[in-house]
Amino acid sequence: MTTIGFLGAGRMGTALVRTLLQNGHQVQVWNRTAEKAEALTAFGATAKPTPEEAIGGVDIAIVNLLDYAASDAQLRRPAVTEALKGNLLVQLTSGSPMTGRETGEWATGNGIAYLDGAIMATPDLIGDPGTLVLYSGSRPQFEQYQALFMCLGGKSAFVSEDFGAASALDSAILAQMWGTLFGALQALAVTRVEKIDPDTYATFLKQSQPVIDAATKDLMQRVRDGRDRGDEATLASIAAHNAAFHHLRDIVRDRGINPAISDAFGSLFEAAIAKGHQEDDFAMLARFMVAA
Ligand code: NAP
Repeated sequence: MTTIGFLGAGRMGTALVRTLLQNGHQVQVWNRTAEKAEALTAFGATAKPTPEEAIGGVDIAIVNLLDYAASDAQLRRPAVTEALKGNLLVQLTSGSPMTGRETGEWATGNGIAYLDGAIMATPDLIGDPGTLVLYSGSRPQFEQYQALFMCLGGKSAFVSEDFGAASALDSAILAQMWGTLFGALQALAVTRVEKIDPDTYATFLKQSQPVIDAATKDLMQRVRDGRDRGDEATLASIAAHNAAFHHLRDIVRDRGINPAISDAFGSLFEAAIAKGHQEDDFAMLARFMVAA
């Protein structure tokens, strides 16, 4: 059994605290709106009136607040920093690789061991065997408390000693998710203006999904291997993609669909074609994503 000082009882914090309690840990919780911390006492938590009291004398301090600004405002008060010294701080607030690294440097500079976490799930999935929480930072501390971390998400993993790595992976995975969600918005706009039943669309999308998954896998392998020139294994050249893409642009223009997404995608095709990459693989577009 581990004693945890927990800052934050929002939607995610509440799910985390309840799961820790269900797994037999002791939790002292602070929340800006005290009623939310009080509500957790019904499940066995102890509510504390200040962050320094919540993290005083515990084995691990865990933070899950809205953002790093809210977190910094609490952690960097002298009374809180002093209480954290010699302890493990686990930051489960979502942030960027930069905020993860900056907080890791601040923590270690103050004698605080640090793990920066990225929760790849919604509150209802906390405690599930299939849930992934990524951690980066102090490997020995992750290994020491691995069983506790696994109770929050059964697929949780330590990814790197680079404090920013968990948040970097979080941003990459979310970028992929938003690509899909924004793609769905475009597709649904097309089905709406063309009066195609959404269930009919869903049926044919499902049948097309293996093709989409295979193309995504091929792209990732080609970018990894630097095979971005057109070759005999190229599935479709940039010219072929762009020709098909123009049909979407025609619908967007003629049927009054918001062009923001297709304009952004189109700008990449145009940049590559302007540089003479018509016959190259779609993977060539990766070169237009990051400044050399
Ligand atoms: P939430 O329900 O809005 O809770 C936000 C928490 O932050 C509350 O405890 C809130 O306190 C506190 N807070 C906000 N501003 C504050 C300030 N200035 N000073 C002190 N405390 C402050 O949000 P959530 O969904 O639980 O998200 C919490 C974190 O988990 C975020 O970093 C989020 O990105 C991450 N996350 C959430 C999900 C999800 O599906 N919800 C998934 C992955 C990661 P009050 O109760 O007093 O407002």
